[in-house]
Amino acid sequence: MKQLDIYGNEVDLKELDPKPLEKQGGRITLKSWFRNCYGYRQGFYCKNCKFFESKTGREKTCYKCTKMSTSSNKETDIRKNDIACNLYEAKP
Ligand code: SF4
Repeated sequence: MKQLDIYGNEVDLKELDPKPLEKQGGRITLKSWFRNCYGYRQGFYCKNCKFFESKTGREKTCYKCTKMSTSSNKETDIRKNDIACNLYEAKP
């Protein structure tokens, strides 16, 4: 199967496969590392998971995954509508 690249050339989709995370350049965030390990569970959202937690600070509400991290750093924030990972468990 082929796809047009930004210059209009046909490129085989096999050539567009993303590289494994450890071979990508740049910094690996905790969230990308976590997703690399636990993947995605389509059709489910983090907001419905029992590990989802919302914290209200002085100025805003942030969302955390207790499986990932609960530090106060915004780098560990998740979003309500993130696709769930394979550790997903429905809220009781
Ligand atoms: S689905 Fe995964 S990433 Fe989302 S809150 Fe649950 S354990 Fe955390």
